[in-house]
Amino acid sequence: MSQSFWSPIVHELTPYVPGEQPKGMGLVKLNTNENPYGPSPKVLAAISSVLNDTLRLYPDPTASELRQTIAEYYALSPNQVFVGNGSDEVLAFVFQSLLAHGRPVLFPDISYSFYPVYCQLYGIEYRAIPIDDQMAIVPKDYFGAEATGIGGIVFPNPNAPTGRLMSLLDIERLVAGHPGVVVVVDEAYIDFGGQSAVTLIDRYPNLLVTQSLSKSRSLAGLRVGLALGHPDLIEALVRVKDSFNSYPLDRLALVGAQAAFLDTAYFEETRQRIMDDRDGLTAALKARGFEVIPSAANFVFARHPQYSGAELYQGLRAQSVIVRHFNKPRIADFLRITVGTTAQNQALLTALDRLVAP
Ligand SMILES: *Cc1c(COP(=O)(O)O)cnc(C)c1O
Repeated sequence: MSQSFWSPIVHELTPYVPGEQPKGMGLVKLNTNENPYGPSPKVLAAISSVLNDTLRLYPDPTASELRQTIAEYYALSPNQVFVGNGSDEVLAFVFQSLLAHGRPVLFPDISYSFYPVYCQLYGIEYRAIPIDDQMAIVPKDYFGAEATGIGGIVFPNPNAPTGRLMSLLDIERLVAGHPGVVVVVDEAYIDFGGQSAVTLIDRYPNLLVTQSLSKSRSLAGLRVGLALGHPDLIEALVRVKDSFNSYPLDRLALVGAQAAFLDTAYFEETRQRIMDDRDGLTAALKARGFEVIPSAANFVFARHPQYSGAELYQGLRAQSVIVRHFNKPRIADFLRITVGTTAQNQALLTALDRLVAP
């Protein structure tokens, strides 16, 4: 019974299960919201430029050049910027350093399924606030009885897996209405049509915005995420990071991420293409009878009134098209479909036409 070596908490954990990364070739992979286009050629050139003897040296533990570049991009100062090994790591630090106060944290019931996992890891209680029938977060539900004595609020904007965007005005009301706790806005998908809450940071010391380079900047494989907020919030994250791993970003990630923020032309072109294709995919799904939740992300969340989510997921899989299906109450009939290239989206529609009667 070598499980007896486990620390007590390990027995209790229910780890997050990421979307499948199938090994086979020839699959149309629309299940994990990766960008269908490669990273900027300038990112690849920057990474190549450090593939040399300097790899024997540790990277900059403060990531100062990358943080400077991100600060300039958002008109902030570097002490308002934290970077980590993917926004999942950044979020883990956020839960531990800013949300664990012995009081429950609020997040939507249909949301990023990593949040309850962090809560369990750090022993944080939470209250899942139901989204409405249109799959929207209801801001007023984060006030009143449910919101008394809380330890913080966290939600993605746009929300995942629904794709629905909350307005900047509603976000400001939430942040302004809860000055005593940190409100975390997880902006993993904000570049696909939303307005970032970064512009509120200088007015609200309790606002923390997290972002990822995995989706809009095509760098899921490089693992870079960031947090933006008041210098005191950033310092809390730095203190946890420096008690855990001094070098979460390696030399390749530091220069690659910096090049990604500098190549604004490539970023603008690829995200615009994805937004256009999302709107095309939405119309095509509606024409096939699907209900499609309005999306401001690089995926759509859709269900068909006559076919179950499980049945469509399996039927697509049998045709080598992989989408995401969550076998959970309220959303079991939905498919979350990443917006791919125009050709991948067409392959999805062709496969659906074999499953869904006209
Ligand atoms: C993808 C995603 C993340 C994590 O992104 P990484 O930077 O790849 O770790 C965080 N939050 C949400 C809502 C996501 O969908």
